[in-house]
Amino acid sequence: MSFLFPPAPTVSVPVVGQTSRFPVHRIYCVGRNYEEHAKEMGFTGREPPFFFLKPADSLVVVEAGQTGTMPYPSLTHNLHHEIELVVAIGKGGRHIQAADAAKHIYGYAVGLDMTRRDLQNDMKKQGRPWCIGKAFDHSAPIGPITPSAQAGDVNQAEISLQVNGADRQRSSVAKLIWNVAETIEHLSAAWELQPGDLIYTGTPEGVAAVIAGDTLVGEVAGLGSLSIQIA
Ligand code: MN
Repeated sequence: MSFLFPPAPTVSVPVVGQTSRFPVHRIYCVGRNYEEHAKEMGFTGREPPFFFLKPADSLVVVEAGQTGTMPYPSLTHNLHHEIELVVAIGKGGRHIQAADAAKHIYGYAVGLDMTRRDLQNDMKKQGRPWCIGKAFDHSAPIGPITPSAQAGDVNQAEISLQVNGADRQRSSVAKLIWNVAETIEHLSAAWELQPGDLIYTGTPEGVAAVIAGDTLVGEVAGLGSLSIQIA
Protein backbone atom coordinates (compact mmCIF):
# COMPACT_ATOMS: atom_id res chain seq x y z
CA MET A 1 0.00 0.00 0.00
CA SER A 2 1.22 3.48 -0.73
CA PHE A 3 0.03 6.76 0.76
CA LEU A 4 -0.11 10.19 -0.81
CA PHE A 5 1.80 11.56 2.17
CA PRO A 6 3.14 9.97 5.37
CA PRO A 7 0.28 8.92 7.68
CA ALA A 8 0.18 10.59 11.10
CA PRO A 9 2.28 8.73 13.68
CA THR A 10 0.47 6.69 16.35
CA VAL A 11 0.10 8.71 19.53
CA SER A 12 1.23 6.73 22.58
CA VAL A 13 1.53 7.12 26.34
CA PRO A 14 4.32 5.63 28.49
CA VAL A 15 3.41 2.88 30.95
CA VAL A 16 4.90 2.72 34.45
CA GLY A 17 7.28 -0.25 34.75
CA GLN A 18 7.06 -1.21 31.06
CA THR A 19 9.05 -0.45 27.95
CA SER A 20 6.00 -0.98 25.71
CA ARG A 21 3.82 2.10 25.29
CA PHE A 22 0.02 2.40 25.25
CA PRO A 23 -1.14 3.26 21.69
CA VAL A 24 -4.04 5.71 21.78
CA HIS A 25 -7.24 5.15 19.80
CA ARG A 26 -9.82 7.74 20.98
CA ILE A 27 -10.20 10.19 23.85
CA TYR A 28 -13.64 10.26 25.46
CA CYS A 29 -14.47 12.84 28.12
CA VAL A 30 -17.32 12.94 30.66
CA GLY A 31 -18.99 16.30 31.34
CA ARG A 32 -20.01 17.58 34.80
CA ASN A 33 -19.27 14.38 36.73
CA TYR A 34 -18.65 15.87 40.20
CA GLU A 35 -21.60 17.55 41.94
CA GLU A 36 -19.65 20.57 43.24
CA HIS A 37 -18.22 21.23 39.76
CA ALA A 38 -21.69 20.87 38.18
CA LYS A 39 -22.88 23.51 40.69
CA GLU A 40 -20.05 25.92 39.93
CA MET A 41 -20.99 25.59 36.23
CA GLY A 42 -24.60 26.46 37.07
CA PHE A 43 -26.17 23.00 37.17
CA THR A 44 -27.52 20.81 39.96
CA GLY A 45 -28.59 17.24 40.42
CA ARG A 46 -27.72 13.90 38.92
CA GLU A 47 -28.29 13.75 35.19
CA PRO A 48 -27.34 10.88 32.89
CA PRO A 49 -23.64 11.10 31.97
CA PHE A 50 -22.84 12.89 28.75
CA PHE A 51 -19.74 12.71 26.63
CA PHE A 52 -17.57 14.63 24.24
CA LEU A 53 -14.37 13.66 22.44
CA LYS A 54 -10.94 15.09 21.85
CA PRO A 55 -8.69 14.01 18.99
CA ALA A 56 -5.95 11.52 19.96
CA ASP A 57 -3.35 13.97 18.68
CA SER A 58 -4.53 16.67 21.09
CA LEU A 59 -2.63 14.80 23.84
CA VAL A 60 0.40 16.44 25.39
CA VAL A 61 2.22 13.32 26.59
CA VAL A 62 4.44 13.99 29.60
CA GLU A 63 7.06 11.33 30.28
CA ALA A 64 7.73 10.16 33.87
CA GLY A 65 9.55 12.75 35.93
CA GLN A 66 9.36 15.41 33.22
CA THR A 67 7.55 18.74 33.03
CA GLY A 68 5.65 19.06 29.77
CA THR A 69 4.93 22.21 27.82
CA MET A 70 1.52 23.30 26.60
CA PRO A 71 1.42 26.32 24.30
CA TYR A 72 -1.22 28.89 25.30
CA PRO A 73 -3.91 28.25 22.65
CA SER A 74 -5.27 30.71 20.12
CA LEU A 75 -8.62 32.54 20.28
CA THR A 76 -9.11 32.38 24.06
CA HIS A 77 -8.67 34.75 26.98
CA ASN A 78 -9.94 32.24 29.54
CA LEU A 79 -7.97 28.96 29.45
CA HIS A 80 -9.20 26.72 32.31
CA HIS A 81 -7.62 23.70 33.98
CA GLU A 82 -9.68 20.60 34.78
CA ILE A 83 -7.76 17.92 36.65
CA GLU A 84 -9.14 14.46 35.87
CA LEU A 85 -8.62 10.75 36.48
CA VAL A 86 -8.05 9.09 33.10
CA VAL A 87 -9.04 5.48 32.48
CA ALA A 88 -7.04 3.54 29.86
CA ILE A 89 -9.05 0.81 28.13
CA GLY A 90 -7.13 -2.41 27.40
CA LYS A 91 -9.99 -4.60 26.15
CA GLY A 92 -12.79 -3.25 24.01
CA GLY A 93 -16.47 -4.08 24.00
CA ARG A 94 -20.07 -2.96 23.56
CA HIS A 95 -22.76 -2.84 26.25
CA ILE A 96 -20.25 -3.56 29.02
CA GLN A 97 -22.01 -3.93 32.36
CA ALA A 98 -20.59 -1.95 35.29
CA ALA A 99 -19.92 -5.23 37.12
CA ASP A 100 -17.66 -6.34 34.25
CA ALA A 101 -15.97 -2.97 33.63
CA ALA A 102 -12.78 -3.75 35.57
CA LYS A 103 -11.83 -6.47 33.04
CA HIS A 104 -11.71 -3.82 30.31
CA ILE A 105 -9.42 -1.40 32.17
CA TYR A 106 -5.68 -1.57 31.49
CA GLY A 107 -4.75 1.20 33.88
CA TYR A 108 -5.09 4.80 34.97
CA ALA A 109 -3.36 8.14 34.46
CA VAL A 110 -3.53 11.75 35.58
CA GLY A 111 -4.85 14.07 32.88
CA LEU A 112 -5.90 17.66 32.31
CA ASP A 113 -8.99 18.51 30.25
CA MET A 114 -7.82 21.98 29.25
CA THR A 115 -10.74 24.16 28.19
CA ARG A 116 -11.13 27.42 26.28
CA ARG A 117 -13.95 28.37 28.66
CA ASP A 118 -14.94 31.58 26.88
CA LEU A 119 -15.39 29.72 23.59
CA GLN A 120 -17.18 26.82 25.29
CA ASN A 121 -19.59 29.24 26.96
CA ASP A 122 -20.27 30.99 23.63
CA MET A 123 -21.08 27.64 22.04
CA LYS A 124 -23.30 26.60 24.98
CA LYS A 125 -25.31 29.82 24.71
CA GLN A 126 -25.89 29.21 21.02
CA GLY A 127 -26.62 25.50 21.44
CA ARG A 128 -23.63 24.63 19.28
CA PRO A 129 -21.04 21.83 19.69
CA TRP A 130 -18.27 22.35 22.25
CA CYS A 131 -15.45 21.27 19.91
CA ILE A 132 -13.75 24.65 19.67
CA GLY A 133 -13.77 24.99 23.47
CA LYS A 134 -12.65 21.46 24.28
CA ALA A 135 -11.04 19.62 21.37
CA PHE A 136 -8.28 22.01 20.34
CA ASP A 137 -4.60 21.19 19.75
CA HIS A 138 -2.63 20.41 22.95
CA SER A 139 -5.88 20.36 24.99
CA ALA A 140 -5.24 17.01 26.71
CA PRO A 141 -2.05 16.77 28.80
CA ILE A 142 -1.53 13.29 30.27
CA GLY A 143 1.09 11.56 32.41
CA PRO A 144 2.23 7.91 32.37
CA ILE A 145 -0.33 5.11 32.68
CA THR A 146 -0.12 2.99 35.84
CA PRO A 147 -1.42 -0.58 35.27
CA SER A 148 -4.53 -1.33 37.36
CA ALA A 149 -2.80 -3.88 39.57
CA GLN A 150 -0.27 -1.26 40.72
CA ALA A 151 -2.69 1.64 41.01
CA GLY A 152 -4.24 0.92 44.40
CA ASP A 153 -7.87 1.85 45.06
CA VAL A 154 -8.26 4.58 42.45
CA ASN A 155 -11.99 4.88 43.15
CA GLN A 156 -11.22 6.33 46.60
CA ALA A 157 -8.12 8.32 45.66
CA GLU A 158 -7.49 11.97 46.41
CA ILE A 159 -7.33 14.14 43.26
CA SER A 160 -5.72 17.57 43.27
CA LEU A 161 -4.24 20.35 41.19
CA GLN A 162 -1.80 23.06 42.19
CA VAL A 163 -0.93 26.09 40.08
CA ASN A 164 2.43 27.70 40.91
CA GLY A 165 2.41 25.74 44.17
CA ALA A 166 -1.03 26.91 45.38
CA ASP A 167 -4.05 24.59 45.68
CA ARG A 168 -6.74 25.09 43.03
CA GLN A 169 -8.61 21.78 43.03
CA ARG A 170 -8.71 19.12 45.76
CA SER A 171 -11.31 16.37 46.07
CA SER A 172 -11.73 12.61 45.97
CA VAL A 173 -12.49 10.29 43.08
CA ALA A 174 -15.11 8.83 45.45
CA LYS A 175 -17.19 11.95 44.71
CA LEU A 176 -17.68 11.09 41.04
CA ILE A 177 -21.41 11.22 40.25
CA TRP A 178 -20.95 8.34 37.79
CA ASN A 179 -18.05 6.18 38.96
CA VAL A 180 -15.57 4.57 36.58
CA ALA A 181 -17.55 1.34 36.16
CA GLU A 182 -20.86 3.15 35.58
CA THR A 183 -19.18 5.51 33.12
CA ILE A 184 -17.88 2.54 31.11
CA GLU A 185 -21.38 1.00 31.11
CA HIS A 186 -22.94 4.20 29.72
CA LEU A 187 -20.11 4.97 27.29
CA SER A 188 -20.01 1.46 25.82
CA ALA A 189 -23.76 1.59 25.16
CA ALA A 190 -23.15 4.56 22.85
CA TRP A 191 -19.81 3.58 21.25
CA GLU A 192 -17.94 0.30 20.90
CA LEU A 193 -14.91 0.74 23.11
CA GLN A 194 -11.56 -0.27 21.65
CA PRO A 195 -8.20 -1.09 23.22
CA GLY A 196 -6.33 2.21 23.30
CA ASP A 197 -9.31 4.34 24.25
CA LEU A 198 -8.80 6.88 27.03
CA ILE A 199 -11.64 8.19 29.20
CA TYR A 200 -11.25 11.54 30.99
CA THR A 201 -13.72 11.00 33.82
CA GLY A 202 -14.58 14.59 34.80
CA THR A 203 -13.22 17.26 37.10
CA PRO A 204 -14.01 18.32 40.67
CA GLU A 205 -14.75 21.92 41.67
CA GLY A 206 -12.17 24.69 41.57
CA VAL A 207 -11.68 25.14 37.82
CA ALA A 208 -10.08 28.49 37.00
CA ALA A 209 -7.91 30.28 34.49
CA VAL A 210 -4.19 29.87 33.85
CA ILE A 211 -1.84 32.13 31.92
CA ALA A 212 1.45 31.74 30.09
CA GLY A 213 4.25 30.96 32.54
CA ASP A 214 2.04 29.08 35.01
CA THR A 215 3.15 25.63 36.18
CA LEU A 216 0.41 23.08 36.84
CA VAL A 217 0.98 20.00 38.98
CA GLY A 218 -1.87 17.49 39.10
CA GLU A 219 -2.04 14.37 41.22
CA VAL A 220 -4.22 11.36 41.76
CA ALA A 221 -3.03 9.37 44.77
CA GLY A 222 -1.37 6.16 43.60
CA LEU A 223 -0.77 7.43 40.07
CA GLY A 224 2.01 9.93 40.59
CA SER A 225 1.88 13.47 39.35
CA LEU A 226 1.50 15.33 36.05
CA SER A 227 3.53 18.52 35.67
CA ILE A 228 3.07 20.97 32.84
CA GLN A 229 4.03 24.56 32.09
CA ILE A 230 1.93 26.88 29.95
CA ALA A 231 4.18 28.51 27.37
MN1 MN B 1 -13.61 17.89 31.97
